[in-house]
Formats: sequence, C-alpha cells, structure tokens
Amino acid sequence: MFQSRVVIPKKLQSDILQRLHQGHQGIVKCRALAKISVWWPGLSKSIESMVKNCATCEKGRTLHPEPLKPTPTPDYPWQRIGTDLFELNGHQYLAIVDYFSRWVEIAHLKKTSSQATIEHMKSIFARQGIPECVVSDNGPQYDSREFRLFSQEYGFTHLTSSPYHPEGNGEAERAVQTVKNLLKKAKDPYIALMNYRATPLAQGLSPAELLNGRQLRTRIPTHPSRYIPKPLDQTKFREADYHQKMQQKANFDRRHRARSLSPLPPGQQVWIKHPRPCPAEVTTPSTPTRSYPVKTSAGTMTRRNRHQLRRRSRQQQHQSDVPRSSATLPATEERIPDQEPLDPTPAFGGDAAQTRSGRIVKPRERLHL
Ligand SMILES: [Zn+2]
Repeated sequence: MFQSRVVIPKKLQSDILQRLHQGHQGIVKCRALAKISVWWPGLSKSIESMVKNCATCEKGRTLHPEPLKPTPTPDYPWQRIGTDLFELNGHQYLAIVDYFSRWVEIAHLKKTSSQATIEHMKSIFARQGIPECVVSDNGPQYDSREFRLFSQEYGFTHLTSSPYHPEGNGEAERAVQTVKNLLKKAKDPYIALMNYRATPLAQGLSPAELLNGRQLRTRIPTHPSRYIPKPLDQTKFREADYHQKMQQKANFDRRHRARSLSPLPPGQQVWIKHPRPCPAEVTTPSTPTRSYPVKTSAGTMTRRNRHQLRRRSRQQQHQSDVPRSSATLPATEERIPDQEPLDPTPAFGGDAAQTRSGRIVKPRERLHL
C-alpha cells in the first residue's frame, strides 16, 4: 500500500491503466479515479500518455475552434460579397452581404434551384454591379454547372467554404442571422431592412453610407444635411474598422477558448471528423483559408478545414487497439483539451506563464510520483 492506495506491480500496470480509462474519461477524471485506488511510480504520466494516444478518444475529441481570422476588409464596396440561402416561416430566401459595407440584400425564392438563385443575383448585380468575388457554402445552388457558367459569363471568382465547415462562409452566415432576427419581428420587413441599412455600424458609418456614399431617408426625422453625399475618409474608416475587428476577434477567442492548431505537412496521417471519423492523409499544403486537400483511406480525394482534421499518431497507425505500456508511447503533438493554452513566449519566465486572457498560471502541482 502507498497511504491508502494499492501499489500495482509493473506487470499489471498496463491492465490497470486500461481499466482506469474504461468509459474513455479524460486525463483529469482518470487521475481522480486512480487517486482513490491505485498507485505506482509514474502513474500520472502513464495516464496522460494513454489518454492522449487513445484512438477512440482521438476520434471523438471535441475541438476548440481556432482563433477567429478576421476577414480582411476589401479595397472598395461590393468587391467581395457573401451569399447564403435561408428559410423563414416556410419561405426560402437568398441573402447577400457586402464584406465592405455589411449592406444586406435579400430576395424571396419561389424555388431553391440554381436557376432561381442566379436570376435573383443577376437582378441584384444590375443594381449594385458585379463583385470581383462571391463567397458561398457548398449548397447545390452554388455547386452547379449553371453557377459556374454564371460566374464565367459575369466575370467573378467563386469561392466556396470547406465541406462541413460552414464557418468558412461566416460573413454570410452572420448576415443571415441579423436579417432573420429583423424579419421575424418586423410587421413591415422593408422598414426593418431599411433601418438596418441606415444604422451606423460600430465604426460609425451605416451600410448605406459605405456602399452608396449617402444616407437613406427613413421614417425618422433627420436633418437634410445628412443626406448630402460625403466622400469616405479612408484612413479614418480603415482605422475604426480594424479596431472593431480586433475587438470582435478578442471576444470570440475568449468566449470559445479558441486555440491555434499547427499546420499539417503533406503526407501527415490524420483523422477526418465529419461526416464520420475516418483515417486519411494530407496531400498538399493548405490554402490560406486553412483548407487542406486530403485523401481518405478509401482513396477518395476531398477537402477539409484544419479544424476538421486531427493528427493521427504513428502509434495508432500500427497498433490501434492493442493494450500498450506507457513507457513506449510517444507524446502526441497536439494539446489535450483540459490544458490551458499557453502564450508561446511567456513573459513571466521561470515557472509561471501567461494565458491569452492575461491570467498568470503556474505549472500544476502534480502528485509527486
Ligand atoms: Zn479513450
């Protein structure tokens, strides 16, 4: 015995480790279970490497999102737009949002076909001009021959987000949320939409002023001088816009406990998370949007955002379900969920480090094993 804990001889340790991890609880829970029952020198470490290398846990691990990558503000209005379809009260709508001004256009779709979507986009482009770039998800309306022809004929680039990673089309998704909230509550949806377009954003100018250079006349009495077009102060706008985006990023990263994932080299063995866990291999380096071309074990080529991919350790590739002893296990490269993300350059040298939120953490007191 060690205090009230049974000391396990070397031969039985790997068996006990398996039992502690039955039910696939995390490191903290496995340690807690061990603490009231068993002990051997190095137990804490063994538990850690076992859980980190457990293939079942690896597959099911919930990922913290990556830090928000603010979308750069385009050079001019209506240069880059996001588009998405949404449903409200049994009706289908097309939404378009301008990345520069946050101006939102919506259109009621009688049919959700590619043809109907294109028709409405043409009508909107006739008013605002053709953007250089259209961002969408992989919905059938956008992932079609007709849409490809449309983009060629009108001369814009069409970008799609990675499958199962709708956040890649986040700008449009957020706009859809805004519009839905407006329309749900509005007796007159047109006034709701008009007020949204005329309301100053966090950086001080309204979508209407940013897109069309003039304020809209609404039902709210306003001094006529507001309606006289004013040139946009680019420097002031860029500065305010940058600050606002950084603020948004800080909020997002804190709220979601976001953490960066390391880039994956070509040839890296990975797990694909969606639609169901499956092994695959990275084929070429990622695009700037953190999207990776991957080849599944069945040989199909697909594409996933970094967020959907987990490194597969060598151990798992060779002996996935064989009980193993802790001594031979390599450490996995990625962080385990219950560890606090650490600043890569701790400002408080020695034992303490600072987290992203500015909290100072000292290494945990481990059982002295
Ligand atoms: Zn497990």
